[in-house]
Amino acid sequence: MSEQPRSPLIFPKSSQSPPLAARPGAEQTLIVFTGPSGVGKGTVLQALLALHPELKVSTSATTRKPRDGEVDGQHYFFLTRSQFQDMVAQDEFLEWAEFAGNLYGTPRLPVFERIEQGQRVILEIELEGARQVRKTAPSALQIFVRPPSLAELEARIRKRGQDSEEAIARRLARAEIELASADEFDICLTNDSLEQTVAELEKILFPGHS
Ligand code: ADP
Ligand code: 5GP
Repeated sequence: MSEQPRSPLIFPKSSQSPPLAARPGAEQTLIVFTGPSGVGKGTVLQALLALHPELKVSTSATTRKPRDGEVDGQHYFFLTRSQFQDMVAQDEFLEWAEFAGNLYGTPRLPVFERIEQGQRVILEIELEGARQVRKTAPSALQIFVRPPSLAELEARIRKRGQDSEEAIARRLARAEIELASADEFDICLTNDSLEQTVAELEKILFPGHS
C-alpha cells in the first residue's frame, strides 16, 4: 500500500526543518483556529464561510454525543471510543486530544487532499491539538480567539443551552488554561462584536478584499 501524499510545503518530514516564520495572509494553506469552547469559533467561521464558501473547514471526529441539531459527517464524525482509538492506532489523525472527557481529532486524509488541490483548510480545534499542529505543520497560521471576559464566556456557553452543568464546569476550567496560552499564537482576536470579529478575520485571510 502506498503512503498518503504529504505536502512538503507544510508537512516537513522531520523536526530538522526549521519552522517557517508565520506570515499572516493568503499564503498559509493550513489555518488553526483555537479558543475556549463557547467563545464563538463555530459562529464566526459560519459567518465567514457564508462570505467565502471556497474556504474549507475540516470536519473533526469526536466521541462526544451529538448535540440537538448536530448531523453526523457535517458537524462532526461521531464515533465510539473504540472506533476513535482504532483511528489513532492507524495514525489516521493529523492531531487529536482529550477535551472535557471526550476525544476529538482531525482526520488526516481529507486535509491532505484539500491542500493538494490548492484549497485552504481551517482546523477549529482546542489548545493541545493546536500545539501538535505547530510541530507537524509549523507554517500553519495559528489564530486564537478570546472572549471579552470569563463571565461573558460562561453566558455564551449557557446561551448555547447544549451542555450539562458538569460539562459547563469542565469547559470553564479548561478555558482558564487555554486563555493563558494566547501568547503562543500568531494572531489573537477578541470576539466581542461578532460582526467585527468576522471582519477582522476576513482582513487577515483575504487581505486584498475590501
Ligand atoms: P464555540 O464554537 O467556540 O464553542 P459557538 O460558536 O458555539 O462557540 O458559540 C457559543 C455561543 O455564543 C452561541 O450561542 C453563539 O450564538 C454565541 N456567540 C458567538 N459569538 C458571539 C458574539 N460575538 N457575541 C455574543 N454571542 C456570541
Ligand atoms: P465542542 O464539544 O464544544 O464541540 O468542542 C470542544 C472543544 O474541542 C472545542 O474547543 C473545539 O474547538 C475542540 N475540537 C473540535 N474538534 C477538534 C479536533 O479535531 N481536534 C482537537 N484537538 N480539538 C477539537
